[in-house]
Amino acid sequence: MLSDDELERYARHLVLREVGGPGQGKIRAARVLVVGAGGLGSPVALYLAAAGIGKLGLVDDDAVSLSNLQRQILFRTADIGRPKVEAGTEALKALNPGVQIESHNMRITATNALELIAGYDIVADGSDNFATRFLLNDACFFAKKVLVSAAVTEFEGQLATYKGHEPGAPCYRCLFPAPPPPGTVANCSETGVLGAAAGVMGSLQALEVLKEAAGLGTGLSGKILTYKALSTEFRIARLAKDPACALCGTAPTITGLLCQG
Ligand SMILES: [Zn+2]
Repeated sequence: MLSDDELERYARHLVLREVGGPGQGKIRAARVLVVGAGGLGSPVALYLAAAGIGKLGLVDDDAVSLSNLQRQILFRTADIGRPKVEAGTEALKALNPGVQIESHNMRITATNALELIAGYDIVADGSDNFATRFLLNDACFFAKKVLVSAAVTEFEGQLATYKGHEPGAPCYRCLFPAPPPPGTVANCSETGVLGAAAGVMGSLQALEVLKEAAGLGTGLSGKILTYKALSTEFRIARLAKDPACALCGTAPTITGLLCQG
């Protein structure tokens, strides 16, 4: 049962026939881990807190810097120098005190990943490096968690939902079998990113998480969405499970988390 306060706070969700009380109840029961409190993680965490996700975890080992504020809308100028998860938790609690926020001031690694994600149902990957992306894919596969993964660079973004543990559903390795060699792909601190483009991708990512949590519509499992900000183009391509995938294929060779550089 929703309280009087919740009935008012979520009124615009509750009037949606597809959401209603049962949907809002599912959103309140959901536990979501947001990895990376950056340009993607900021809108993801803000929208999920606003939507009333029951438990929201935030993982990041960085502190807020001046150059973050152009896109990381979870933070204010006064937060510069503070740990991101500390400033972020404060902002999210101020937005919605009804949400349980768990802050993890750490880098997710092969040693702690499974323990960290065990307390959540859905993982939202907003990290900025391939090592974390592959680690989360593998960890979510072994732990049978839904992974909603977004990436953004310069003026382009991509978004997909991975459920490699389910029959017929691909994982990230079905698309990219292995990380590119270190140093061959630049991250956003080197290439730049238009702040609002990160906002578009993060908002879409939050929406896909909410759809998974509330069982709404058709998700992005088996599909990949790409966004080109300069020409304002959205495309969706089919993404099939690869029977030869080293993780989720018929004869897997990856049977545990790999330590990646
Ligand atoms: Zn796979």
